[in-house]
Amino acid sequence: MDVSELLDGLNDKQRDAVAAPLQNMLVLAGAGSGKTRVLVHRIAWLMQVEQASAYSIFAVTFTNKAAKEMRTRVEETLKAPVGGMWIGTFHGLSHRILRAHHREANLPESFQILDSDDQQRMIKRLLKAMNIDDKKWPAKQFGWYISAKKDEGLRPKDIQAYDINEQMMLKVYAAYQEACDRAGLVDFAEILLRCYEVLKNHPTLLRHYQQRFAHMLVDEFQDTNTIQYAWLKLLAGNTNSIMIVGDDDQSIYGWRGAKIENIKRFLTDFEAETIRLEQNYRSTATILKASNALIKNNAERMGKSLWTDGNDGEPISVYAAFNELDEARFVSSKLRSWLNAGNALQDAAILYRNNAQSRVLEEAMLQEGLKYRIYGGMRFFERQEIKDALSYLRLVGNRQDDAAFERVINTPARGIGDKTLSHIRDCARNESLPLWYAAKAIVEQQHLSGRAASAVTKFLELVEHIEDKISDLTLEEQAKYAIQTSGLMAMYQAEKGEKGRARVENLEELISACGQYELPEDEEFSSPLQGFLAYTSLESGEGQADEHEDAVQMMTLHSAKGLEFPLVFMVGVEEGMFPSQQSNEESGRLEEERRLCYVGMTRAMEKLYISHAESRRLYGQEKYHSPSRFLREMPEDCIEEIRIKTQVSRPPAAGRFSPSVTHAAFEESGFNLGQRVLHAKFGAGTVLNYEGSGAQSRIQVNFDDLGSKWLVTQYARLQAL
Ligand code: ATP
Ligand code: MG
Repeated sequence: MDVSELLDGLNDKQRDAVAAPLQNMLVLAGAGSGKTRVLVHRIAWLMQVEQASAYSIFAVTFTNKAAKEMRTRVEETLKAPVGGMWIGTFHGLSHRILRAHHREANLPESFQILDSDDQQRMIKRLLKAMNIDDKKWPAKQFGWYISAKKDEGLRPKDIQAYDINEQMMLKVYAAYQEACDRAGLVDFAEILLRCYEVLKNHPTLLRHYQQRFAHMLVDEFQDTNTIQYAWLKLLAGNTNSIMIVGDDDQSIYGWRGAKIENIKRFLTDFEAETIRLEQNYRSTATILKASNALIKNNAERMGKSLWTDGNDGEPISVYAAFNELDEARFVSSKLRSWLNAGNALQDAAILYRNNAQSRVLEEAMLQEGLKYRIYGGMRFFERQEIKDALSYLRLVGNRQDDAAFERVINTPARGIGDKTLSHIRDCARNESLPLWYAAKAIVEQQHLSGRAASAVTKFLELVEHIEDKISDLTLEEQAKYAIQTSGLMAMYQAEKGEKGRARVENLEELISACGQYELPEDEEFSSPLQGFLAYTSLESGEGQADEHEDAVQMMTLHSAKGLEFPLVFMVGVEEGMFPSQQSNEESGRLEEERRLCYVGMTRAMEKLYISHAESRRLYGQEKYHSPSRFLREMPEDCIEEIRIKTQVSRPPAAGRFSPSVTHAAFEESGFNLGQRVLHAKFGAGTVLNYEGSGAQSRIQVNFDDLGSKWLVTQYARLQAL
C-alpha cells in the first residue's frame, strides 16, 4: 500500500503527528479535532513505514468497544488483518497480564473478579464479623476508600492513619484485602494495582514486556489515575516510544482519582514533544462556539483553540420543561419526528447526569414506541437472575468464591436460614476457611440441626453434581444444565408478571450468549467457562443483545466520552442536577462538571437539544430547580428557546397523548399543568398530566403526602389553590 494513502484525509498538523519520527509525543487538542483518528493512523504508519510488527504495539483505549473499533479501523486503513496487537482498556490489558502470570501474582489460576455489588456484600459481611455498626459506618464508604487507595497505589501497610476515622477505614481495608486474597478474588482497582506490582517485582517479566511493546499509544490520557500512570511509565521503560492523546478540558474522572496533572508530568517525565490540533471536524460552528464559550469559564486550562470551517447549522434548542415527565415526552416527540423524517434512531443520543434519570426517559420511549438502548447502565451481566446463574458457574469453577457461595446457597430457597449461615460464617472466620469448606466442616462435625444439615448437604452435593455432569459439555450446555438443575429456571418461571417473564428471557439469553462466546485465541484460560466468566465481569454491557437493532442510545454523560452523534439531547441541565449539588460544596468539582458539560455538548454533530425541568421527582423526592448556570454561559445568539406554553397546548402527536385528546382533557379538567390543587381526601397537590376525554378523561395529580395518582376528572372535584 502506498504510504501517502496513510496520510490521506488528514490535515497538516495531524500528518505531523502521524508521521513523526519515533519519539515520545503528546497530542493535545480539543474535542472532535481528530485525536483518535490520529492514533489509528499512527498505528498503521508504525506498521507500514517503521516496519513495526503488530506484536510490538500496545494501545490503551477508554472502553472495550473503542478498542474493537480501533482494531477494525487499523485493519481498514492497512487493508489487512492485524493479529497479536494488544488493544484494550487499562483494566482489560492488566487483567490479561494477570491471567498469564497468576502464579507470580499469587493468585489461583481461576481467580475471579469482584464487581462493585460483590464488593459491597463482602464488606458488609466483614463489618458484621468485626462488630462494626454499618449504620454508623456505611459499607459504601469503605468501598470508596479502598478503591481510592488502590488507585493511588497504596496498600494498608503504606498508609499512616492519623485520625479515628481513617484508622477504621484502614482496619477494614486490611481485613477486606486478606479476605479477597484468601478467596482468590480481585476487585476492579486491584486488577491494576496487582498487575503493576507483578511487573515491578519481577524484573524478568517486566523486561519481557518492555522488549515486546516498543510502541505504546494511549487515548483519553487526561483521565488516567496515579496507578495507571505509574503502570505506563514502568512498561515504557527508557527505550520504548509512547504517544498519548488527550484534552485537559475533557478530564471528567477526577472524582475517581484521575489526575489532569498527569499530562504535564508526562511532558517532563518522558521529555515529550507536543503537537496541537486545532481544527474541529465534528460539530457545527454554532455548537462549537457555544462549547468554547462555556469552557472558557474554567480557570485552570492548558489553553487550546478550536475552529471549524463548517456551517453554522441550527441553533441549540433549549426546552424549559414543566417536570421530568414533560421533559421525557418532549425528547420522545422530537425523536419521533427525527425518525419520521427518515433518520436512523441510532444516530441520536440522550445524555444524562445520573443513571437514575433514565427510567422516566425509558418509559417515554416505550410509550412512543421507540426502541432504545442503554449504554453502560444496568448491564445485562449485572442483573439479579444473571448474577445468580453466573454464581453457580463460578462456584463450580472455584469453591473458594465466597461471594458466589453467599449469593446462591439459599437461592432458590432451600431452607437454609440466617442462623445456619451465621454458623457457616463463624466457622469460616475461626478456621480461616472459605465458606464452602466451612459449610462442609460444619456438616461433618454435626453442628447443625438435622434439617439444616440436610439442606446444606443437598446444596453442596448439587454444586458437585453440576460440576460432575458438565465437565464434558459445551459451554452452552454447561450453562443450560446449571440453570436448570440449580432450580433457578423453575424459580423464575414461577415468578408472576412481566418481571418474571423478563427474567426467564434473560436466563435464556445467557445460555445463548454462552453459545456465541468464542474463547480468545491469544489469552490463557484454563477452560472456556473461565474465559466466559472473566468476559462477563469485564466486558458486560457492551455486547448487548439488541446490538443490531436501530435504537436511540441512552447513556450518562460520562460514558459518552469519545463518541459522536448527529443528534444529541442533554437532559436535566439544572442547578443541583448539573452541576450536581455536591459540586457546589467541594472545590474543583464545579470545573469538572463544566468539563462534563463540554464533553456532552461536543458529542453533537448537527443538532443539540438541551432541556431542564422546573420540578423533578428523583429518588422519591420532588425538587424545584432553576436552569443550570451552564446555560447562561453559552452565548445567547447560539440558543433558541422553546416555550413551555406552546408545548403544553400542542403536545406530541402520537401515542396516548394525541393532541385532540389531550387538549380535550386539558379543557375539561380546567387546570393547567403545574397548577396547585386541593382534593377533599388526598389534600394538596400539583397537576402533572391528563389523558382521555369525556367520561374517560383522567387527571394525574402529585399529592404532597401521597405521591402521584390518576383520578377520573369528573369525580375528582379538585379545587384550585
Ligand atoms: P474527542 O475529543 O471527542 O475524543 P477526537 O479529537 O478524538 O474527539 P475524532 O473522534 O478522532 O476526534 O474525530 C472527530 C470526527 O472528525 C470524526 O468523525 C473523524 O472521522 C473526523 N475527522 C478527523 N480528522 C479529520 C480530517 N482531517 N478530515 C475529515 N474528517 C476528520
Ligand atoms: Mg477521541
